[in-house]
Amino acid sequence: MLGSMMRKELLISDLIVHAGKYHADTEIVSRETTGELHTTDWADIAQSSRKLAAALGELGLATGDRVATLAWNNHRHLKIWFAVSGGGMVCHTLNPRLAPDQFIFICNDAADKAIFFDKTFMPLITGTKDHLTTIKHFIYMGPRDQDVAEALPEAIFFDELVETGDDAYEWPQFSEDTPSSLCYTSGTTGNPKGVLYNNRSTMIHTFAIALPDALSLSSQETILPVVPMFHANAWGIPYAAAMTGAKMVMPGPMLDGDSLLDLIDTQKVSLALGVPTIWMMLLAAAEKSGSKMETLKRNVIGGSAAAPSMIATFREVYGCDTIHAWGMTETSPLGTANRPKGKHDSLDDDAMALLRLGQGRPPFGIDIRIVDDKGQPLPHDGVAEGALQCRGHWIVDTYFGRDASALTSDGWFDTGDVSSIDADGFMVIRDRTKDIIKSGGEWISSVDLEGIAVSHPGVAMAAAIGAVHPKWDERPIIIAVKAEGADPDEAEILALFEGKVAKWQIPDKVVFTDAIPLSATGKMLKNKLRDQFGNILLGEQN
Ligand code: AMP
Repeated sequence: MLGSMMRKELLISDLIVHAGKYHADTEIVSRETTGELHTTDWADIAQSSRKLAAALGELGLATGDRVATLAWNNHRHLKIWFAVSGGGMVCHTLNPRLAPDQFIFICNDAADKAIFFDKTFMPLITGTKDHLTTIKHFIYMGPRDQDVAEALPEAIFFDELVETGDDAYEWPQFSEDTPSSLCYTSGTTGNPKGVLYNNRSTMIHTFAIALPDALSLSSQETILPVVPMFHANAWGIPYAAAMTGAKMVMPGPMLDGDSLLDLIDTQKVSLALGVPTIWMMLLAAAEKSGSKMETLKRNVIGGSAAAPSMIATFREVYGCDTIHAWGMTETSPLGTANRPKGKHDSLDDDAMALLRLGQGRPPFGIDIRIVDDKGQPLPHDGVAEGALQCRGHWIVDTYFGRDASALTSDGWFDTGDVSSIDADGFMVIRDRTKDIIKSGGEWISSVDLEGIAVSHPGVAMAAAIGAVHPKWDERPIIIAVKAEGADPDEAEILALFEGKVAKWQIPDKVVFTDAIPLSATGKMLKNKLRDQFGNILLGEQN
């Protein structure tokens, strides 16, 4: 016997129908590539995305076709997301910071049939288009533009294309297992791999991230997703904002501290999301300007570990509660979010601050565990450290275009992170498996060392890496970038480690550099740093 409730597939188009109907006049503000602000609302996003879906059908795009975007966070990108996934196609968000050869590889691997692009990326498009073997339609995200038409005669203009769409178009109904979007992992080594989400996984993830114990989203919020729509679907925010009817502020191409601060203050942003490098720039801009970011009540930090000093500064100076979260492209991306439980209300300030440093606990819908090097589960006692694995409704099963499962023989996805988990599920990332520093057979967490190094006000950014050592195999060293106008010396920075880590974990050296190379998603490229500085201790006596 089956239950007797209505059967309705979980479809992304339902999100935009809901937002357009019940949150019609809620604003969507975005920074255009030209710099000025553009304001529209959910009603327009809903109508334009429907018309665009119709127009894409007229261009010959069909169910399952991959439609790429090379774009900033802005209102047109939002319309494309709902048009493509709602129309049964696959929205393939491309990371514009990739090297051209990786960009070409990804477009061809995905067999993209069309590409939407912002003006910023014209040079990348014209420079690579002869190598993009599957793309038939190049769609410029803007009104008709003479320069674009001259440089790319086949260009279609977004604003004109939307106008051609049939307003009577109705969202097609199909299986919730239909793929909806595609995102490639950053791939610091080897070729990037695609993760193909579907309507069902996306919808369940959207419900989950909106919950109070996850990101707690609602129509009361004004959300600034600084995290790009090409980085793990902007952590699911555009979908969840439509579900909850939140106002969105989209930063476009201007991701510097001053521009973000201006958006936060003028648009009264209540919740912002991004990677640690973004927050460093924002905090520097706020300190310079004297703004206290009064409206910013919460921010979500993920993508890399948030340094304890950064979380403390947000709380103590700006009254902003940081939700430290962990996730991956393969996990849609939310894996854990740091939300204290009721029983933690009685903790004193120091204990609460300590609890909030970790990456938090899994919401319903994803399960996590740690295993030893034989794959045996380790206890959730907050002490044991092992390989972090997960499974659930929104976790990858098989990479795009591959036959082999991405899972362990017992059905878990191995994340490549090393962590501990306590009895309540609070998880702390100790390191990436490949970044952990192995000194004399013992492990040292590079994340811990970095957190201490950046607590020095004169350090803008710091990476801890294992440098090859004749006796200990590896010893930790710090690669640091000085803050503007500051001139800390090595001894001052090393002194900070005294009493905070065991003596043998104190780094052997601090090397100052002008800039730390970052990946396309803003993470420190430690493999590059190891190439550059990994042999610096050889020949030194220790
Ligand atoms: P990506 O798929 O590019 O978003 O990268 C996912 C990886 O980023 C994870 O496997 C972690 O190594 C890292 N990561 C994400 N969030 C955090 C966090 N809050 N703390 C430490 N590492 C993180």
